[in-house]
This record gives sequence, structure tokens and C-alpha cells, in this order.
Amino acid sequence: MGALLYFTETTLLWIVAVFFLLGIGWRIFFFIVSIFRSRTFSRHGMWHRFFTLVGAMVPFHRAVLKKPVYTTIRYAFHACMFMVPVWFSGHISLWEESRFEWYWTPLPDAWADWMTLAVLVACVFFITRRVILKGRLKKGISDFILIVITGLPFLSGYFLTHGNLSNIVFFENYLWYIHVISGEIMLAMIIFLFCRTRLKKETCVGCAACVENCPTETLEFYDKDAFRFFRYSHYQCICCGSCVNVCPENAATLSHAISLKHFSRMFSKDVIRNVDLATCERCGVTIAPKSQMGKLEGILSANDVEMALLNCCSRCKKLITQLH
Ligand code: SF4
Ligand code: SF4
Repeated sequence: MGALLYFTETTLLWIVAVFFLLGIGWRIFFFIVSIFRSRTFSRHGMWHRFFTLVGAMVPFHRAVLKKPVYTTIRYAFHACMFMVPVWFSGHISLWEESRFEWYWTPLPDAWADWMTLAVLVACVFFITRRVILKGRLKKGISDFILIVITGLPFLSGYFLTHGNLSNIVFFENYLWYIHVISGEIMLAMIIFLFCRTRLKKETCVGCAACVENCPTETLEFYDKDAFRFFRYSHYQCICCGSCVNVCPENAATLSHAISLKHFSRMFSKDVIRNVDLATCERCGVTIAPKSQMGKLEGILSANDVEMALLNCCSRCKKLITQLH
């Protein structure tokens, strides 16, 4: 047992650290390659592409206005989650004592404490929110496990730093290992953690507003054989929430998925949704998604608007109008 625990805090820690750096490098590299391969994205100039990407990642877009509390907590959570492990003085002294003898200025300990507490409060907030909104958010058990795995290194680290549990023999002996092993699991998990955008079957009308507003062209659509297909790339999605914010039907949702399969499919796009297209009643060309047309019909009839040419394409409408 002792040898195994020693292995987790020495060799395994190095293996996980190297694996993490390589995995993250791989993800970043193929993310950049895949979005720059995208046809429409590459039509824009370099600066446009740069600002689009940076703009999508900073907390000043529509998501802040639509869900200000949730978005602020989400950004603060991710910022603290990144900063504490890197700039905590205890971690830096481990690097300093290692064979690399690396040192960088740490965060003041009080800041690290507050940021750790912020991560833990955010974890509680996310779990509570998921429990309260379970039906609406459609989250599975994996979402809860994800939050617990993320929070555990911070919780154990906080108690370790302050010694609150040192009077309990189990924690006195094993808290350090709980901290190290949960940290290793979290690092390994990050490599395989992907955003997952869904377009809910029950409510999506196929309008493609989400596609038009996706900054990285992660979402695409194409029309074929009277269907509109939506395709999605796990590698390109930056979880910015633009699709969720613009969706008029609240049909776009975001969640996380841990997947080995996605990791190796750098350039593939999966069809995640298809909708029926309505066709012109005169010439048969496709016009627009059927459910969208249905909605429009409902609005027009509620307002007593003439609908005679609604199910005709623009060309046929023009011809009929000219004939009359
Ligand atoms: S914006 Fe909403 S309704 Fe329109 S295609 Fe996207 S998910 Fe569907
Ligand atoms: S799919 Fe949605 S969350 Fe992902 S990058 Fe596009 S707009 Fe952002």
C-alpha cells in the first residue's frame, strides 16, 4: 500500500503531467488547424479571425446579458480553477524543490484561499442548479460526477493547507493522497473533456440562427433531399454559448462530455439534428423548415394575414404575382 501511494505522488504524477501537457497541446493544435481549414472562416482576414476567437472567449458577449449571474459565476469558476493550481505557493515550492528548480511569483496565500473557496461555492451552485432545473437542463449523472471530480482537489487542498481535518486519523494519513490522486484524475479528465451542443428535437425549428452566430463554425447545416442537416464538431466548439443565446426556441443546449472517441476524431463533424423541409406547392423546390413554416402560418393566421402564396418559393410567387 505504501509503495502504491508513493508511486501516485512521484512517478504517476510525472506521467499524468506529461500526458496532460501533450494532450492539451494536441487539442489546441487540432482546434486551430480545424477552424482554419473551415472554408468560410478562412475567407476572412487574419485579424478578423483573431478577434473572433478572442472575443468568443472573453466574458463580454451576449451571454453575460442574457444570464448575467450564471455567466459571471462560470467565468470566475474557470479563472480560479486555472489560477489556483498554477500560482499557489505550495505548488510552486514543489516545482522549486524538483530537479527543474523552477520558480515563479505565487499568488498571496489569502488570494489562493478565497479563489479556492470561490471554486467550491461555484461547484455547490452548479450542483444545486442542476438538481433544481433537472428536467429543463436534461443533465445526466456524468455532469454531477464531473463537478465532484473538479471540486475534490480544491476541497482536499483547502483542508490540507489549513489542517482542519488533521485531528481525524484517516485524513491525517490520507488527505494528501486524496488531493494528489483527485488532482491527477482531474488533469487526465480535462484532456478528454469536450463541449457538447445539442439542438433539442422537440423544440428546434431548424432556423439555423445558431449556425449563423457560431464564431468558430463548429455548427454547420446543409440541405439535401428535403431535409436540413446540422453538423457539429466537438474539436471546434469553445463552449461560448452564442448558439444558446440566439436560439429563439431555447432549443440549443450546452453540456460537457468526456470522450475518448472524440479525442481521436479531430476533423470529423457529426450530424446532430435533421429537420424536414417544406417544398414549394407549385414547383417542388425546398423553401424552409416545415416547423418554421408552421410557426409562421400560426402567426399569420392569428393576425388574419393572407396566406395564399405562403407555401410557394420566391420564384413561383413572382410568376403568380406577374400573371395577376
Ligand atoms: S437556433 Fe434554435 S431553433 Fe434555430 S436551428 Fe438552432 S437550435 Fe434549432
Ligand atoms: S457550437 Fe455553440 S457553444 Fe460551440 S462554438 Fe458554436 S456557438 Fe459556441
